Amino acid sequence: MTQRFHCTACGKCCYGQLPLTVNDAFKYADRFPLAMVWTPVRQGCKDFAMVSQLGATIKLANRKELVVLIVPTAYIPPSYPCPALAPDNLCGIHADKPARCRTMPFYPYRDEQFQAELLKPQPGWTCDTSESAPLVFADKKIVFREDFDAERQELEEQIPQIRRYADYMLKYTPQLVDSLAKVSLKPKGGQVVTSLSSFLTAIRHPNAQQIAQWQLPVLNSYAEKTASEPGLAEFHRHYISGAKEMQYLAR
Ligand code: SF4
Ligand code: SF4
Repeated sequence: MTQRFHCTACGKCCYGQLPLTVNDAFKYADRFPLAMVWTPVRQGCKDFAMVSQLGATIKLANRKELVVLIVPTAYIPPSYPCPALAPDNLCGIHADKPARCRTMPFYPYRDEQFQAELLKPQPGWTCDTSESAPLVFADKKIVFREDFDAERQELEEQIPQIRRYADYMLKYTPQLVDSLAKVSLKPKGGQVVTSLSSFLTAIRHPNAQQIAQWQLPVLNSYAEKTASEPGLAEFHRHYISGAKEMQYLAR
């Protein structure tokens, strides 16, 4: 099976949450409102093996285990554009955009052989998948693989930090296990959101103060933007509480 794909730069996929590598999250802390997003993945799901490798395994009270993806994320409401999206719908930081954007639509948290379905444009997206588009996937392999391999390598290198963070959070906020177990039982799954400041503290980042100083005005500005939108109350709460924690770290 072969598949073709070409980005026509419509900007439609530059809305809502953007998963980042740890390096990109810190690099763009002056631009994106950040959070740590935890997503349990069920056994039997095609992402299970890769998430077990790149994420963390958490023990539940009933002796069962939960595999969880823990991702630093530009935590942006689905209706909001990425702050780097320019008015002409082009990426304002194209030459230096995050690894996630360079690899799109491929997704290194999923095994390579299962990437084909990600090439199907979502409703409203104008990705070109016609016969004239370049061949990008053949025989269960990615053809131009440099960006995919680079992002996967970054994800592999950050595993110790992600696991140290999971251990820290489970020790100091044990109620997180119940929240994750509850979310994992939802038919469509779901996510639990924690703060970037807790991650900075857990991994004892040497530049935590500087990162907090960059992040604080971004969180405050998103708190202001979402204040009068009842549908975005969850995002608003995160920006407010995240800003409080960042204020403490920024001192
Ligand atoms: S960084 Fe650029 S490519 Fe990535 S989501 Fe934002 S605008 Fe789109
Ligand atoms: S939706 Fe498709 S065509 Fe539009 S910017 Fe994203 S990848 Fe490119």
